[in-house]
Amino acid sequence: MRLDTEQKKALISAVAGSIIAHTDELTTLDQAIGDGDHGYNMKRGFEAVLTDAEMLSAKPLPDFLKAIGMKLVSTVGGASGPLYGTLFMALGKELPAEPSREEAVSAFGAAILAVKTRGKSDVGQKTMLDVLVPTHETMAQGAGAVAIKTTAARAASATVPMRATRGRASFLGERSIGHMDPGARSSSLMIAALCDLFGES
Ligand code: ADP
Ligand code: MG
Repeated sequence: MRLDTEQKKALISAVAGSIIAHTDELTTLDQAIGDGDHGYNMKRGFEAVLTDAEMLSAKPLPDFLKAIGMKLVSTVGGASGPLYGTLFMALGKELPAEPSREEAVSAFGAAILAVKTRGKSDVGQKTMLDVLVPTHETMAQGAGAVAIKTTAARAASATVPMRATRGRASFLGERSIGHMDPGARSSSLMIAALCDLFGES
């Protein structure tokens, strides 16, 4: 897989566009079990990425991803900024410039491990990992874009009945049950945007 400059720009606008379009929804989710800043945090970060899209997209894929990660760390804030930053930076560190599908799957796995280490978290705690991990498993099974997107959406919905044991929502204990995790939703939005983009090509 080789992404040219135009495809990298398209990747940024697809992911940033979806996050920005869902700012209010992410805010509402974080108001229910957090402090209500996830929508605005993510919007701020991806607006900054959009502003630099031209410069970022001129970089080779590993540097492109690392630079997006650094941008997110410095602009998103909250718990999710360092975690999404870690995800993108680790992807950039792991991926070769023109990855095969196997290399992409393995880099995604390594990047998820980096998020787990950074967040001292794992699946089952009602976080973004509850979307990232099943999505990675579906990818590793060789699934296509539609199946990957479906897995991510179902995984985000599956956080509704979970009780949070990491992040701000864990302060609510039992009261975190019954709401979708905002980070799980933002992860599923990013994955859906990527599947829509690359599923077409
Ligand atoms: P904050 O919780 O600091 O206000 P955000 O609202 O931007 O930050 O992000 C909250 C999201 O971050 C949660 O919904 C959850 O998915 C994710 N999150 C929080 N802590 C962790 C963690 N330790 N590991 C993985 N994800 C986490
Ligand atoms: Mg928050």
